[in-house]
Amino acid sequence: MTDTSPYPAARTLDDLRRNLDQVRANIAAACARAGRAPADVRLLPVSKTIDEARIRLAYAAGCRELGENKVQEAHAKWEAMADLPDLRWAVIGHLQTNKAKLVARFASEFQALDSLRVAETLDRRLQAEGRALDVLVQVNTSGEASKFGLAPEQAAAFVRALPAYASLRVRGLMTLALFSPDPARVRPCFVRLRELRDRLRQEAPDGVCMDELSMGMSGDYQLAIEEGATTVRVGQAIFGARALPDSHYWPGFAGPPTAS
Ligand SMILES: *Cc1c(COP(=O)(O)O)cnc(C)c1O
Repeated sequence: MTDTSPYPAARTLDDLRRNLDQVRANIAAACARAGRAPADVRLLPVSKTIDEARIRLAYAAGCRELGENKVQEAHAKWEAMADLPDLRWAVIGHLQTNKAKLVARFASEFQALDSLRVAETLDRRLQAEGRALDVLVQVNTSGEASKFGLAPEQAAAFVRALPAYASLRVRGLMTLALFSPDPARVRPCFVRLRELRDRLRQEAPDGVCMDELSMGMSGDYQLAIEEGATTVRVGQAIFGARALPDSHYWPGFAGPPTAS
């Protein structure tokens, strides 16, 4: 059986190592083009839909942080792999207040904060758990109605309100760019997030850090790095193409033509 997808499957530890090496080489190349140090870019492998056996392979390949976009899936994996206490879980997808309790229990990071109601609920639950959480504010840089996140012009007032929630450690911003094969349409989303971060940084209230820019996925992480990404969230380029269409993860998104 030939693998025609642009993202080679990773079934064995060797496959995973090969894909991780390739992604790291691409990160280094993008950094070189932008005059940046590869150490300034964090690779967050995204393991949504990946089963426990393959996640354990990723751990064996050195991964100590994984991103998941659905809270229940992430929580179930955290429970199943409690024997790996140094494996950290980042929730990178939209959160409803009724699931905040779960996130407060196990996540090390939440990258999709876009409502004060969620901030308030998370903070209360974190206090109860005696935990703190790194958070990124999600911004909608593409203007698509199907994407979550604050409109860029709402971000400043939102960030000013966050110091009220003492258990949330604000680290920066996150975005999903326009899904398009055309870099000329994708790049402006990344530029928008960086410029917004630079503005917010100047007026950031005490205790709010605006260093992180989480942007870039399998299809566009090299572009994102050229525009300043400090974290790239990469799933398919590490684990192989997902069977389900992306509309399953982002309701309303029709998706690019599938490689078949
Ligand atoms: C799935 C997902 C990613 C990774 O996408 P890939 O195409 O697998 O690299 C990044 N960010 C978010 C929010 C996601 O849900």
